[in-house]
Amino acid sequence: MSSLITVEDMWKIYSMGDTEVQALRGISFSVEQGEFMSIMGPSGSGKSTCMNMIGCLDTPTKGNVIINGRNTLDMSEKELAHLRNETIGFVFQQYHLLANMTVLENVMLPLRYQGLDIEQRKERAIEVLERMGLQDRLSHRPNELSGGQKQRVAIARATASRPKIILADEPTGALDSATGRSVLELFHEINEKEGTTIILVTHDSGIGTSCPRCIHILDGQINADIRKSAEEAKLEENRNIEKKAKEENKKAEAEKSMADIKEGAQC
Ligand code: ADP
Repeated sequence: MSSLITVEDMWKIYSMGDTEVQALRGISFSVEQGEFMSIMGPSGSGKSTCMNMIGCLDTPTKGNVIINGRNTLDMSEKELAHLRNETIGFVFQQYHLLANMTVLENVMLPLRYQGLDIEQRKERAIEVLERMGLQDRLSHRPNELSGGQKQRVAIARATASRPKIILADEPTGALDSATGRSVLELFHEINEKEGTTIILVTHDSGIGTSCPRCIHILDGQINADIRKSAEEAKLEENRNIEKKAKEENKKAEAEKSMADIKEGAQC
């Protein structure tokens, strides 16, 4: 059986006047249905470019991206839009919710392209929002929600159409560590319960190494592709949580000492 996603020798070269930026330099990997993986690397290494290609938001300069058995390079704009709507759910760091719509309307919106009538769209949107613990926020607007709640709405919107793949670009980047962890837990739950393939792009090693598979990108090339069992990933996640908690305690203590010193200086 073929993989859900196959990336073959993918290059992306941006031309900027006389200069060229080789954002991706011959990347190849496959992803099976139901995998939970992260794409990690420092800023500028090519993670977002890679995600844009997998999400059919941009086309590679060279190479192939095969999704669900179809080479996306042979597809028309219309076919690509259809593939994105049917197969892929997107989650972004800045949520990208529509400010003038309610939570419910934001989640119902992409279901328009699924041939569902308004009642079915409403029912489906309420069902996923309930699963995200947002049943009492249906008629709120995005600016009335916390960052964590906004990201939950964005995840509800991405999952409402029951896509095979969720692509999330720095989904915890704008959240504090506890909220970020709860969002990561949500992705784990969706992956386990629905079998949805999850690909998280992150520069945060605490998040990236908590995934059962982690591809490291450096200077537009893969320099490691590490897999671990679900148990090992869970242990790693717990270690990361402990480490982060220690760091946060240390920071809080340092801030308190600094405040004490300042207060002492004022006396
Ligand atoms: P990351 O997501 O790891 O931070 P990106 O994929 O955004 O990295 O960028 C990889 C490289 O490509 C960087 O050097 C970046 O400056 C360059 N780049 C990304 N998008 C463009 C663009 N639209 N035009 C020109 N250069 C770009």
